[in-house]
Amino acid sequence: MAWKTLDDMDFAGKRALVRVDINVPVENGTVTDTTRIERIVPTVHDIQDKGGKVILMAHFGRPKGKVVPEMSLEIVAPAVADVLGLPVTWANSDYADAVSEMEDDEVLLLENLRFNPGEEKNDEGFAKRLASLGDIYVNDAFSAAHRAHASTEALAHLLPACAGRLMAEELSALEKALGTPERPVVAVVGGAKVSTKLDLLGNLVGKVDHLVIGGGMANTFLAAQGINVGKSLCEHDLADTARDILGKAEKAGCEIILPRDIVVAREFAAGAENETVAPNACPADAMILDAGPATVVYISDVLDNAKTLVWNGPLGAFEMAPFDAATNAAAAKAANLSKAGKLISVAGGGDTVAALNQANAADDFTYISTAGGAFLEWMEGKTLPGVAALR
Ligand code: ADP
Ligand code: MG
Repeated sequence: MAWKTLDDMDFAGKRALVRVDINVPVENGTVTDTTRIERIVPTVHDIQDKGGKVILMAHFGRPKGKVVPEMSLEIVAPAVADVLGLPVTWANSDYADAVSEMEDDEVLLLENLRFNPGEEKNDEGFAKRLASLGDIYVNDAFSAAHRAHASTEALAHLLPACAGRLMAEELSALEKALGTPERPVVAVVGGAKVSTKLDLLGNLVGKVDHLVIGGGMANTFLAAQGINVGKSLCEHDLADTARDILGKAEKAGCEIILPRDIVVAREFAAGAENETVAPNACPADAMILDAGPATVVYISDVLDNAKTLVWNGPLGAFEMAPFDAATNAAAAKAANLSKAGKLISVAGGGDTVAALNQANAADDFTYISTAGGAFLEWMEGKTLPGVAALR
């Protein structure tokens, strides 16, 4: 592996500065979802087991370089203590004093790094101040790795650096899916708009064997082929771009899979009256809200023959039944193949994760990334500064 992990470092008697993502939802001063905190537990425990002291560094909300009391990590500290089962001390900006008073099993949580304008500026001075607090830098915040900030980038160059357990897990899952994948590789890209996923499509056509295009973005591709899509969500101004992507795919030997049948309705609402028609038969006063059963059968066949799947974006307007049918069916198929050990499946994206949960498929996927923007940038083939700095 191109990066070090906790196993490569000697933590005995050392202080570890651990960048984590505990940007959790809070209502009325209480944390309402502790998932992100739960995911850093192995890293904190492993460092302590190896004899190290843990200093947690994190951001919380977007205070833009100023002290905003509602965004103080003091609010989150009790939940961190609860989940870790350890005493957690919150340290306001007098970091150095708090560090010198640390007990062995005590975890120190530094105040919201983004209260300091140096954090988002990737400021060398702020990074040096942080570096002076510890001996080893551990980055366990893949979801913040697409930002070059002092705690994700500059600091990594100032101390011996390694990936935490969560970061290492995410990196190896992503590496397996697109870095050196077992072929054939299928990508499913759906969602609302082509314009938000141009870089993604551009990168994937050069890397995968089959690219399923679904959701609202499929409409733009159908329209680019001269098909009338009625009142469907469609970016007509991107017709040339869509044709470019089709041309690039053909050259690269990547099969583009567009809907082979479509589910159309006259209302954008749950339970709206609908019919399944051929892709070129959308009535002028209707909109395409899902892919039809023939498309699902075709996608299932492709998945049966595939070894690896990466998925971002639902195949239809999944928030409203029955327009969740294609997404649910494809998700169930991928989940079953993964459970049977026949497919490596990696998925990410806010709505995608919601859709896979709704389909009860998420648990059987090989890996579900909750990293949002960082996951997308990685799928787009971009270098993530926080990952590059660990190399
Ligand atoms: P993610 O958050 O996983 O990256 P997106 O935000 O790109 O996914 O896309 C999800 C949205 O796309 C959902 O709100 C869904 O309703 C919408 N969508 C999917 N198919 C269609 C369609 N045919 N028409 C309109 N909206 C659609
Ligand atoms: Mg979304």
